[in-house]
Formats: sequence, structure tokens, C-alpha cells
Amino acid sequence: ASGYSLLRDPHHNKGLAFTEKERDAHYLRGLLPPVVVNHDLQVKKMMHNIRQYEIPLQRYQAMMDLQEKNERLFYKLLIENVEELLPIVYTPTVGEACQKYGTIFKNPQGLYISLKDKGKVLEILKNWPQKKIQVIVVTDGERILGLGDLGCQGMGIPVGKLSLYTALGGIRPSACLPITIDVGTNNEKMLNDEFYIGLRQRRASGKEYAELMNEFMSAVKQNYGEKVLIQFEDFANHNAFDLLEKYRTTHLVFNDDIQGTASVVLAGLISALKLVGGSLADHKFLFLGAGEAGTGIAELIALEISKQTNAPLEETRKKIWLVDSKGLIVSSRVDSLQHFKKPWAHDHEPVHEFLDSVKSIKPTVLIGSSGAGQTFTKEVVEAMSSFNEKPIILALSNPTSQSECTAEQAYTWSEGRAIFASGSPFAPVDYNGKNYVSGQSNNAYIFPGFGLGLIISGAIRVHDDMLLAASEALAEQVTPEHFANGLIYPPFTNIRKISAHIAARVAAKAYELGLATRLPQPEDLVAYAESCMYSPKYRNYR
Ligand code: NAP
Ligand code: MN
Repeated sequence: ASGYSLLRDPHHNKGLAFTEKERDAHYLRGLLPPVVVNHDLQVKKMMHNIRQYEIPLQRYQAMMDLQEKNERLFYKLLIENVEELLPIVYTPTVGEACQKYGTIFKNPQGLYISLKDKGKVLEILKNWPQKKIQVIVVTDGERILGLGDLGCQGMGIPVGKLSLYTALGGIRPSACLPITIDVGTNNEKMLNDEFYIGLRQRRASGKEYAELMNEFMSAVKQNYGEKVLIQFEDFANHNAFDLLEKYRTTHLVFNDDIQGTASVVLAGLISALKLVGGSLADHKFLFLGAGEAGTGIAELIALEISKQTNAPLEETRKKIWLVDSKGLIVSSRVDSLQHFKKPWAHDHEPVHEFLDSVKSIKPTVLIGSSGAGQTFTKEVVEAMSSFNEKPIILALSNPTSQSECTAEQAYTWSEGRAIFASGSPFAPVDYNGKNYVSGQSNNAYIFPGFGLGLIISGAIRVHDDMLLAASEALAEQVTPEHFANGLIYPPFTNIRKISAHIAARVAAKAYELGLATRLPQPEDLVAYAESCMYSPKYRNYR
């Protein structure tokens, strides 16, 4: 290939880091200025450039440009500055990027499959240049973060999630495939936006929707085999539960919003117990939001308590209460509830106001999973603090604008007693002369390591016990120093090491359950996981 095209190939481009020998061998002489710099200096320079931008969306665009220009530099930057760059390539900035995807869109970063492609999905998969795919993240754009239906512009989410698969979980970038299924959008703003990039029609549903999804799922298995991981991301709950249920027995599927979120929250609770005492069974849980995240978390907590106490699930579920847009979920509502809410309809009189639910249930753990911002009001946090010495409060909704409360509000209103974590990050808070650092309760802790574990073991199905294993692995990474700061999650700085531990535990579970196909089982799974992880180090081209 010519030097010119080498410089335009993001998988091989090294920019000014091409050595003298490489410049000679690959016709690069004159196409680059004379200086040769090392990878570290390139990182330093890029970070300097990115920090010049004050607007997060501009930083996002700079990162996307870099990914398109020099993939290894992009990943080295992200890995070495993960705390700083995660809020740019992921929540909250990625949400804004999706909202404006039509205007900032430059090059396609993934595969688009629309209703127009019915009957041709397999052909489309074959158009993607990489053949050895290990992880697909797919969305239909209907419930992007807490921002609602963004249609085809939801593509920012699979792209962002997969860059974390590589940076945090060590999956090779060429093995990652972001996909958006476009069945239309019900978002009027998108439909009327002249720059909208998707199908300009209302969403297909029912048979038409199911058929396209089915063709897609079959084509993926036919083209990539049984061991490709398909992560469902940001589907609306009226499809998400059904898709997971339908395909979990035939494909390697994982719904991040239901299962990944559940695993990360359970991990946070396991470690929070070290601060508040007691076992999970001693606690009482109240959720605001009874959708994918809420019921997914609730079910995994109930499962874990049931394993710990040998009590049946029907019993352990009774420690967990959920509130949806119509109020507390109680047995008198059971007939009109969506199927995923029914197990949570316990005996209680109807309660409409959320604050009244809090006061009546008196939970020790309050979890926000509604996508509605500023719903943990002063009164709610004060109530939690009145019947708990250390109330556990998780505001999971993303992006920051949708957070149930801010870190500052949680600490101020609880007089510094809350154990708080949030889906999108908050800066540390000074309250009464003390510095409070809050953790980020985000599935980004789990899915990269979880996926790595599935891949290194050659797993062919996902099992709930793997989610529990991942939670335990993550909780074990929280050290006494973290606890001393009130943190229930480890910082993201060590995430690759954490991911290797999660991967090892998930893989071990896959072997135990007979779901692993990579045989024989490696002796040291942590070391094996680490050895499989992608490194962004430049290669030498001779
Ligand atoms: P979902 O399936 O649409 O569920 C939303 C639930 O919240 C529904 O039960 C809905 O009630 C309820 N709700 C909405 N507005 C409400 C309000 N004002 N008052 C009371 N209840 C309300 O969505 P999801 O997938 O669970 O996601 C919800 C949020 O969690 C999103 O913001 C998402 O970003 C966030 N999330 C965070 C993480 C993380 O890792 N931190 C992971 C996944 C999701 P109805 O059922 O009555 O409509
Ligand atoms: Mn999601």
C-alpha cells in the first residue's frame, strides 16, 4: 500500500510516530514532517489539545476524529486517562452527541440495518470489513439513556459502549461491531429535523418489528457463529424483556440495561454493606422506576438473597418495593401491570406520591431508575435520613440532567450521612469542611469484563449465576481505603485489572456450568484474561 493510504488507515496509522525505517519502507518520506515522536508524547499532545476545548461535545468530536485517524492512539489516550475521558466518550456527553448526531455525523462508525433491508440482512453483515467479530452492541434507539427515542441517532451508544469494551475490557477493536436497527422513530423532533439521518417514518412494531429482529438474530448466528456476544442496548422495555427471553436460549445474548445494571448495583450493595452492616436480607429496598433497570436489579437482589438464605424467590422479593409512574406497585394493581412488574405487586394499600411511598415503606436502600431527574427531593432524602443512620441512595438515571439528585444534594440533605453513587459522574463535594467522593454506579464497570469472560471461555449462553459472579468480583475490588472515603465502587483508574478479575470469575462460572467451549480450562484465569487483552501499543511495520 502507498504511504498516503497508510496515513489514512486508522488501524495502522501511527502519525509522527512512524520510525525512520518505516518511513523508508512504506513510502512515507516527505508525507510527514521530519520529527519522529514517541507514543507517550503523542498522548501528551492530544490531551493538551483536547483540554483546550471547554465544551464537552467538542471534546467528544475531537475523540471521534482521533478514533477515525489513529485507533491505537485513541485507545492509549482513553486507557491512560480513563477518569477524565469516560464522561466524554460515554455518559453524559454521549447523550448530547446522540441528540445532535445528525449534524455532527461525519463517517459511519457502525452498521445500519433498516426496515428497507428486510430480506438482505445477511448481505449487509457481509459488507462490514472485519470478519472475526466477537462482540456486537445493538440498539434500536428507542430508549437512549434517559433521553427517550432518538431513532437512528442512537448509534452513538453502541459506538461508545464498544470503545469501552476495548479500552476497559481489552476486546480487540476489530472484533467489535456497533449496530443500529432502524425501524423508524416516534420522536417528532427527529422526524421534522432536516438533518435527521434515519428513516423518516413512525416506528414499526408487532410482526414487522419481530420479523426484522429475527432475521437479524439469525443472520448474526449464521455469519459469526454461536460464540459472538450480542449485547442489547437501550431498547424500550416493551421489546427488551421479550427479546432477551426469546433469544437467551438460542444465542449468546446479554441485555446491559437489565442485566449489566443489575450486576453493578448488586456489587455496590455488597460493598455498601461493609459500611452499614447487616446482610442483604436485613435490608429493605425501594425503587423509583420499575422498568428494565429497576426490575432487573430487583430480581438479581432477590436471587442473591435467596441463594444466601435458602428462602424461595417469592419470599425474598417481598423485601423489595418498586414505584412506577402510577405510584407504588401493589397487589390491587396486578391485573393492569406489564408482566415484568407483576412479581413486585405486594400487599399494601395504593400510594400515589413517591414521598408517601418512602415514608410508608421506610427502605434502607433507595434506588432511582426512572430516567426522571430531580425526583429525589429534599423531603425524600430527609425522610431517608430520618429512619436510617446511613441511608444508601443510588441515583442511577443518565445522563446527569436526569439524575434523581446531585451528589451535593444527597450529602447536604442527609447531613453528610448518605452513601451515595450515581449513574453519571459527579465531582467530589465539600460539605461541612469534609470532602465527599461519590462512586459511579454504572454498568460500565461490568459489561467489559463480563464480555471478556464470555469470550475467553468461549461461552455459548449467558446464565444469571455469571451476573452474581461478576458482582462479587467487582465488590472484592473495593479496598479499605475506598471505604474510608465512603466509596462503594473502586475508581475507574484500575478498570482493566478489575475487568480481568470479573472476566476470570465469569469464565470460571461458564466452565462450572458446562457453557464454556474453550478447552481445556486455563489454570490461572486471571492471568489468562490479562494475556488476552488488547494493548494499544504500536506495532513495528517492516
Ligand atoms: P424504562 O424501562 O423505560 O423504565 C423507566 C421506569 O421509570 C418505568 O417503570 C416508568 O414508569 C418509570 N418512570 C418514568 N418516569 C417516572 C416518574 N416521573 N415517576 C415515577 N416513575 C417514573 O427505563 P430503564 O431502562 O429502566 O432506564 C431508566 C433510567 O435508568 C434511564 O435514565 C437510564 O439511563 C438509567 N440507567 C442507568 C444505568 C446505569 O448503569 N447507571 C443502566 C441502565 C439504565 P411506567 O412503567 O409507569 O412508565
Ligand atoms: Mn443502556
